[in-house]
Amino acid sequence: MLHISVSKELFDDILTTQLKVIEKEMTPYWKKELLEISIVNDTIKYDIKNVDRLKISNGLGSEKPTVVAQCEKINYNAKKNLFEIIIGDIEERKNTFISEDYKDNLIKQLLKEKEALQDTMHKDHLTDVYNRRKMEEDLEMFIGQRNANVLSATFVDADRFKGINDYFGHDAGDHALRYIARKLKKHAKLLNGEVYRYGGEEFILLCFMPKSLLLNGLERLREDIKKEMIPNPNRPISLTVSMGVAFWDECKTKENFIKTADEGVYKAKENGRDRIEIG
Ligand code: GH3
Ligand code: MG
Ligand code: MG
Repeated sequence: MLHISVSKELFDDILTTQLKVIEKEMTPYWKKELLEISIVNDTIKYDIKNVDRLKISNGLGSEKPTVVAQCEKINYNAKKNLFEIIIGDIEERKNTFISEDYKDNLIKQLLKEKEALQDTMHKDHLTDVYNRRKMEEDLEMFIGQRNANVLSATFVDADRFKGINDYFGHDAGDHALRYIARKLKKHAKLLNGEVYRYGGEEFILLCFMPKSLLLNGLERLREDIKKEMIPNPNRPISLTVSMGVAFWDECKTKENFIKTADEGVYKAKENGRDRIEIG
Protein backbone atom coordinates (compact mmCIF):
# COMPACT_ATOMS: atom_id res chain seq x y z
CA MET A 1 0.00 0.00 0.00
CA LEU A 2 1.35 3.38 -1.04
CA HIS A 3 0.80 6.32 1.33
CA ILE A 4 0.11 9.70 -0.21
CA SER A 5 -0.60 12.93 1.59
CA VAL A 6 -2.50 15.60 -0.35
CA SER A 7 -3.89 19.11 0.20
CA LYS A 8 -7.46 19.67 1.42
CA GLU A 9 -8.62 20.73 -2.08
CA LEU A 10 -7.16 17.67 -3.75
CA PHE A 11 -8.52 15.42 -1.03
CA ASP A 12 -12.07 16.78 -1.50
CA ASP A 13 -11.77 16.29 -5.27
CA ILE A 14 -10.60 12.69 -4.77
CA LEU A 15 -13.38 12.04 -2.26
CA THR A 16 -16.03 13.22 -4.73
CA THR A 17 -14.31 11.32 -7.57
CA GLN A 18 -13.71 14.57 -9.46
CA LEU A 19 -10.02 13.81 -9.52
CA LYS A 20 -8.64 10.54 -10.78
CA VAL A 21 -4.92 11.25 -11.20
CA ILE A 22 -2.40 12.40 -8.61
CA GLU A 23 0.80 13.85 -10.01
CA LYS A 24 4.11 13.54 -8.14
CA GLU A 25 7.37 15.08 -9.20
CA MET A 26 10.53 13.03 -9.69
CA THR A 27 11.98 13.89 -6.28
CA PRO A 28 14.38 11.44 -4.60
CA TYR A 29 11.55 10.51 -2.21
CA TRP A 30 9.07 9.53 -4.94
CA LYS A 31 11.79 7.81 -6.97
CA LYS A 32 12.54 5.67 -3.92
CA GLU A 33 8.83 4.99 -3.32
CA LEU A 34 7.86 4.22 -6.89
CA LEU A 35 10.90 2.84 -8.70
CA GLU A 36 12.45 -0.58 -8.48
CA ILE A 37 16.08 -0.66 -9.39
CA SER A 38 17.79 -3.73 -10.73
CA ILE A 39 21.00 -4.47 -12.56
CA VAL A 40 20.62 -6.40 -15.77
CA ASN A 41 23.70 -7.20 -17.83
CA ASP A 42 25.73 -4.56 -16.00
CA THR A 43 23.22 -1.80 -16.69
CA ILE A 44 20.91 -0.19 -14.20
CA LYS A 45 17.26 -0.72 -14.96
CA TYR A 46 14.36 1.23 -13.48
CA ASP A 47 10.87 -0.21 -13.29
CA ILE A 48 7.76 1.28 -11.78
CA LYS A 49 6.73 -0.75 -8.75
CA ASN A 50 3.49 -2.65 -8.68
CA VAL A 51 1.11 -0.87 -6.31
CA ASP A 52 -2.34 -2.31 -5.75
CA ARG A 53 -3.69 0.07 -3.12
CA LEU A 54 -3.36 3.72 -2.19
CA LYS A 55 -3.86 5.23 1.25
CA ILE A 56 -4.58 8.90 0.61
CA SER A 57 -4.85 11.29 3.52
CA ASN A 58 -5.04 14.95 4.31
CA GLY A 59 -3.46 16.61 7.34
CA LEU A 60 -1.75 15.13 10.35
CA GLY A 61 -2.55 12.94 13.35
CA SER A 62 -4.44 9.71 13.81
CA GLU A 63 -7.85 11.33 13.14
CA LYS A 64 -6.88 12.71 9.73
CA PRO A 65 -9.32 12.13 6.85
CA THR A 66 -8.20 9.11 4.86
CA VAL A 67 -9.39 7.03 1.96
CA VAL A 68 -8.13 3.69 0.75
CA ALA A 69 -8.49 3.27 -2.99
CA GLN A 70 -7.41 0.82 -5.63
CA CYS A 71 -4.41 1.87 -7.66
CA GLU A 72 -5.24 1.39 -11.31
CA LYS A 73 -1.83 2.24 -12.69
CA ILE A 74 1.25 4.35 -12.22
CA ASN A 75 2.69 6.02 -15.30
CA TYR A 76 5.84 7.99 -15.87
CA ASN A 77 5.00 11.09 -17.89
CA ALA A 78 8.25 11.90 -19.70
CA LYS A 79 7.00 15.20 -21.10
CA LYS A 80 6.25 16.64 -17.67
CA ASN A 81 8.87 14.49 -15.92
CA LEU A 82 6.52 13.27 -13.23
CA PHE A 83 4.66 10.23 -12.00
CA GLU A 84 0.93 9.91 -12.58
CA ILE A 85 -0.83 7.80 -10.00
CA ILE A 86 -4.22 6.70 -11.32
CA ILE A 87 -6.84 6.21 -8.65
CA GLY A 88 -9.37 3.38 -9.00
CA ASP A 89 -12.45 2.67 -6.87
CA ILE A 90 -12.51 3.99 -3.34
CA GLU A 91 -12.80 1.08 -0.88
CA GLU A 92 -12.68 2.73 2.55
CA ARG A 93 -13.26 6.20 3.97
CA LYS A 94 -12.26 7.36 7.43
CA ASN A 95 -13.09 10.72 9.07
CA THR A 96 -14.20 12.07 5.74
CA PHE A 97 -16.83 14.72 5.23
CA ILE A 98 -17.37 17.24 2.48
CA SER A 99 -17.34 20.87 3.59
CA GLU A 100 -20.38 23.09 2.96
CA ASP A 101 -18.28 25.46 0.82
CA TYR A 102 -17.18 22.58 -1.34
CA LYS A 103 -20.77 21.38 -1.75
CA ASP A 104 -21.93 24.90 -2.65
CA ASN A 105 -19.27 25.20 -5.33
CA LEU A 106 -20.07 21.77 -6.68
CA ILE A 107 -23.78 22.61 -6.94
CA LYS A 108 -23.00 25.93 -8.65
CA GLN A 109 -20.76 24.15 -11.14
CA LEU A 110 -23.39 21.48 -11.86
CA LEU A 111 -26.11 24.11 -12.37
CA LYS A 112 -23.86 25.96 -14.81
CA GLU A 113 -23.21 22.77 -16.76
CA LYS A 114 -26.93 22.00 -16.79
CA GLU A 115 -27.72 25.48 -18.14
CA ALA A 116 -25.13 25.13 -20.90
CA LEU A 117 -26.56 21.74 -21.83
CA GLN A 118 -30.12 23.09 -21.91
CA ASP A 119 -28.99 25.93 -24.13
CA THR A 120 -27.51 23.55 -26.70
CA MET A 121 -30.63 21.37 -26.50
CA HIS A 122 -32.84 24.39 -27.19
CA LYS A 123 -30.84 26.18 -29.87
CA ASP A 124 -30.65 25.75 -33.62
CA HIS A 125 -26.96 25.55 -34.47
CA LEU A 126 -27.13 27.13 -37.90
CA THR A 127 -29.10 30.26 -37.04
CA ASP A 128 -28.61 30.51 -33.27
CA VAL A 129 -32.33 31.01 -32.64
CA TYR A 130 -34.37 28.60 -30.53
CA ASN A 131 -35.46 25.32 -32.09
CA ARG A 132 -38.79 23.57 -32.43
CA ARG A 133 -38.39 21.66 -29.18
CA LYS A 134 -38.06 24.94 -27.28
CA MET A 135 -41.04 26.37 -29.19
CA GLU A 136 -43.19 23.49 -28.03
CA GLU A 137 -42.06 23.90 -24.42
CA ASP A 138 -42.57 27.68 -24.49
CA LEU A 139 -45.97 27.41 -26.14
CA GLU A 140 -47.17 25.06 -23.40
CA MET A 141 -46.10 27.66 -20.84
CA PHE A 142 -47.38 30.72 -22.76
CA ILE A 143 -50.94 29.43 -23.17
CA GLY A 144 -51.22 29.15 -19.39
CA GLN A 145 -50.17 32.77 -18.84
CA ARG A 146 -52.57 35.60 -18.03
CA ASN A 147 -51.54 37.52 -21.16
CA ALA A 148 -52.35 34.54 -23.45
CA ASN A 149 -55.26 36.60 -24.85
CA VAL A 150 -52.72 38.60 -26.91
CA LEU A 151 -50.62 35.59 -27.92
CA SER A 152 -50.12 34.98 -31.63
CA ALA A 153 -48.17 32.51 -33.75
CA THR A 154 -46.64 33.67 -37.03
CA PHE A 155 -45.25 31.15 -39.48
CA VAL A 156 -42.51 32.69 -41.62
CA ASP A 157 -41.55 30.74 -44.76
CA ALA A 158 -38.84 31.90 -47.16
CA ASP A 159 -40.11 32.29 -50.72
CA ARG A 160 -38.69 30.11 -53.47
CA PHE A 161 -35.81 29.17 -51.25
CA LYS A 162 -34.98 26.07 -53.22
CA GLY A 163 -34.14 28.38 -56.12
CA ILE A 164 -31.57 30.23 -53.95
CA ASN A 165 -29.86 26.95 -53.11
CA ASP A 166 -29.98 25.80 -56.71
CA TYR A 167 -28.64 29.03 -58.16
CA PHE A 168 -26.20 30.27 -55.51
CA GLY A 169 -25.31 27.04 -53.72
CA HIS A 170 -26.08 25.56 -50.33
CA ASP A 171 -23.64 27.78 -48.41
CA ALA A 172 -25.33 30.89 -49.74
CA GLY A 173 -28.63 29.28 -48.69
CA ASP A 174 -27.30 28.81 -45.16
CA HIS A 175 -26.12 32.40 -45.15
CA ALA A 176 -29.58 33.55 -46.22
CA LEU A 177 -31.18 31.56 -43.38
CA ARG A 178 -28.89 33.32 -40.90
CA TYR A 179 -29.87 36.64 -42.45
CA ILE A 180 -33.59 35.86 -41.97
CA ALA A 181 -32.96 34.72 -38.39
CA ARG A 182 -31.15 38.00 -37.60
CA LYS A 183 -34.02 40.07 -38.96
CA LEU A 184 -36.56 37.97 -37.07
CA LYS A 185 -34.66 38.40 -33.82
CA LYS A 186 -34.50 42.15 -34.24
CA HIS A 187 -38.25 42.43 -34.94
CA ALA A 188 -39.27 39.87 -32.31
CA LYS A 189 -37.86 42.22 -29.70
CA LEU A 190 -40.08 45.04 -30.97
CA LEU A 191 -43.07 42.70 -31.04
CA ASN A 192 -42.56 41.36 -27.53
CA GLY A 193 -41.90 37.90 -28.87
CA GLU A 194 -39.46 35.07 -29.44
CA VAL A 195 -38.11 33.39 -32.60
CA TYR A 196 -37.84 29.67 -33.28
CA ARG A 197 -36.61 27.73 -36.29
CA TYR A 198 -39.40 25.30 -37.00
CA GLY A 199 -37.41 23.38 -39.61
CA GLY A 200 -35.79 23.97 -43.02
CA GLU A 201 -36.58 27.51 -44.22
CA GLU A 202 -39.48 27.92 -41.81
CA PHE A 203 -39.53 29.95 -38.63
CA ILE A 204 -42.16 30.72 -36.02
CA LEU A 205 -42.66 33.87 -34.00
CA LEU A 206 -44.62 33.70 -30.76
CA CYS A 207 -45.55 37.25 -29.76
CA PHE A 208 -47.58 38.92 -27.07
CA MET A 209 -49.00 41.96 -28.87
CA PRO A 210 -52.53 43.22 -29.71
CA LYS A 211 -53.65 42.27 -33.24
CA SER A 212 -53.38 45.54 -35.14
CA LEU A 213 -50.00 46.41 -33.63
CA LEU A 214 -48.76 42.92 -34.43
CA LEU A 215 -49.91 43.07 -38.06
CA ASN A 216 -48.28 46.49 -38.54
CA GLY A 217 -45.06 45.21 -36.99
CA LEU A 218 -45.08 42.10 -39.21
CA GLU A 219 -45.49 44.29 -42.31
CA ARG A 220 -42.38 46.20 -41.24
CA LEU A 221 -40.55 42.90 -40.79
CA ARG A 222 -41.58 41.71 -44.25
CA GLU A 223 -40.37 44.99 -45.80
CA ASP A 224 -37.13 44.91 -43.83
CA ILE A 225 -36.24 41.40 -45.05
CA LYS A 226 -37.06 42.36 -48.65
CA LYS A 227 -35.29 45.72 -48.85
CA GLU A 228 -31.79 44.57 -47.90
CA MET A 229 -29.72 42.57 -50.36
CA ILE A 230 -27.67 39.67 -49.03
CA PRO A 231 -24.05 40.01 -50.20
CA ASN A 232 -22.85 37.25 -52.54
CA PRO A 233 -19.78 37.00 -54.83
CA ASN A 234 -22.04 36.03 -57.72
CA ARG A 235 -24.57 38.86 -57.31
CA PRO A 236 -26.47 40.21 -54.31
CA ILE A 237 -29.38 37.99 -53.30
CA SER A 238 -32.83 39.40 -52.73
CA LEU A 239 -35.21 37.45 -50.60
CA THR A 240 -38.85 37.65 -49.57
CA VAL A 241 -40.94 35.76 -47.04
CA SER A 242 -44.57 34.72 -46.76
CA MET A 243 -46.24 34.76 -43.36
CA GLY A 244 -49.31 33.18 -41.82
CA VAL A 245 -50.76 34.43 -38.54
CA ALA A 246 -52.96 32.73 -35.94
CA PHE A 247 -54.35 34.21 -32.72
CA TRP A 248 -54.55 32.04 -29.64
CA ASP A 249 -57.92 33.42 -28.54
CA GLU A 250 -59.43 32.08 -31.79
CA CYS A 251 -57.87 28.60 -31.50
CA LYS A 252 -58.75 25.88 -29.04
CA THR A 253 -55.66 23.71 -29.11
CA LYS A 254 -51.92 24.13 -29.65
CA GLU A 255 -52.08 21.89 -32.71
CA ASN A 256 -54.87 23.99 -34.21
CA PHE A 257 -52.96 27.18 -33.38
CA ILE A 258 -49.88 26.11 -35.36
CA LYS A 259 -51.96 24.56 -38.12
CA THR A 260 -53.94 27.80 -38.56
CA ALA A 261 -50.72 29.80 -38.88
CA ASP A 262 -49.48 27.27 -41.45
CA GLU A 263 -52.73 27.65 -43.41
CA GLY A 264 -52.02 31.39 -43.47
CA VAL A 265 -48.68 30.68 -45.17
CA TYR A 266 -50.40 28.47 -47.69
CA LYS A 267 -52.84 31.30 -48.52
CA ALA A 268 -49.98 33.78 -48.82
CA LYS A 269 -48.18 31.49 -51.26
CA GLU A 270 -51.35 31.06 -53.31
CA ASN A 271 -51.94 34.80 -53.40
CA GLY A 272 -48.50 35.51 -54.86
CA ARG A 273 -46.00 35.23 -51.93
CA ASP A 274 -44.23 38.16 -50.18
CA ARG A 275 -47.34 38.82 -48.11
CA ILE A 276 -49.05 38.17 -44.76
CA GLU A 277 -52.31 36.29 -44.40
CA ILE A 278 -54.37 35.41 -41.36
CA GLY A 279 -55.03 31.67 -41.23
P1 GH3 B 1 -42.03 28.28 -51.53
O1 GH3 B 1 -41.94 29.70 -51.94
O2 GH3 B 1 -43.24 27.59 -52.06
O3 GH3 B 1 -41.91 28.13 -50.06
O4 GH3 B 1 -40.78 27.55 -52.20
P2 GH3 B 1 -39.49 26.97 -51.52
O5 GH3 B 1 -38.51 26.67 -52.57
O6 GH3 B 1 -39.05 27.91 -50.44
O7 GH3 B 1 -40.05 25.70 -50.80
P3 GH3 B 1 -39.59 24.19 -50.84
O8 GH3 B 1 -40.27 23.55 -49.66
O9 GH3 B 1 -39.82 23.59 -52.18
O10 GH3 B 1 -38.04 24.23 -50.58
C1 GH3 B 1 -37.46 24.56 -49.38
C2 GH3 B 1 -35.98 24.50 -49.57
O11 GH3 B 1 -35.28 24.89 -48.40
C3 GH3 B 1 -35.47 23.13 -49.94
C4 GH3 B 1 -34.32 22.87 -49.03
O12 GH3 B 1 -33.19 22.43 -49.73
C5 GH3 B 1 -34.03 24.22 -48.41
N1 GH3 B 1 -33.47 24.11 -47.08
C6 GH3 B 1 -34.04 23.57 -45.98
N2 GH3 B 1 -33.21 23.62 -44.93
C7 GH3 B 1 -32.06 24.18 -45.36
C8 GH3 B 1 -30.80 24.50 -44.74
O13 GH3 B 1 -30.57 24.27 -43.55
N3 GH3 B 1 -29.84 25.09 -45.51
C9 GH3 B 1 -30.07 25.38 -46.84
N4 GH3 B 1 -29.11 25.97 -47.52
N5 GH3 B 1 -31.23 25.08 -47.43
C10 GH3 B 1 -32.21 24.50 -46.73
MG1 MG C 1 -41.41 25.63 -46.54
MG1 MG D 1 -40.33 28.19 -48.72
